[in-house]
Amino acid sequence: MHSVIGILRDEGLADSVEHGISFGPYVARPTSRGKVSIRAPHGYSKPRITHSYLSDPDEGRRLREGLRMAMEIARQPALAEHLKTDLKSSAAIGIAPESDTDEALDDFISRTGFAFYHPSGTCAMGKVVDHELRVQGLANVRVADTSIMPELVTGNTNAPAIMIGERAAAFVEDAAKS
Ligand SMILES: Cc1cc2nc3c(=O)[nH]c(=O)nc-3n(C[C@H](O)[C@H](O)[C@H](O)COP(=O)(O)OP(=O)(O)OC[C@H]3O[C@@H](n4cnc5c(N)ncnc54)[C@H](O)[C@@H]3O)c2cc1C
Repeated sequence: MHSVIGILRDEGLADSVEHGISFGPYVARPTSRGKVSIRAPHGYSKPRITHSYLSDPDEGRRLREGLRMAMEIARQPALAEHLKTDLKSSAAIGIAPESDTDEALDDFISRTGFAFYHPSGTCAMGKVVDHELRVQGLANVRVADTSIMPELVTGNTNAPAIMIGERAAAFVEDAAKS
């Protein structure tokens, strides 16, 4: 569950100009798998990125379950007494599901769901890089970002990305000394 002060619009990228509280579930340990592939044999050509979000139907089930929990929380008297609106009026302006049927929740997910900006795992340790972040089969190429994560971390990725960079710097330094 993530929670922020303000009403989240446009995948969280728009300025928050409406008073309110936004909260909802996300699948922290996704099981759907996308891929990054080469589109053309040129170093500067853009890669082809296929996200395949929600390709595992179980993720849809988990999101629906989380949304039902979020709606249940929104209905609690302890929270409701601080709110000027209810779920029904939030649904009318598109920021809450119309109801908690599977169809209404799926509709809400497809209209408002977004990926949370934590792409990772495309050069996974054990598959593409070794335990010191070296690309397997190449002597002097390392990868140092969240693409080396074999599994996505449950929390956000900024601090882990910095940590991976720090470790990579130490590996390069150690290699230079030996
Ligand atoms: C909108 C958004 C919100 C986010 N919110 C959060 C959050 O709240 N908390 C959190 O923990 N994480 C958040 N993240 C995720 C987090 O930002 C990333 O996990 C993290 O920045 C990854 O760090 P990185 O160094 O691997 O990549 P980046 O931060 O993307 O750094 C890569 C750098 O390489 C540079 N670059 C690219 N190509 C070249 C080139 N050819 N030559 C030279 N330089 C190049 C780019 O300009 C960039 O500066 C968010 C991401 C987004 C997009």
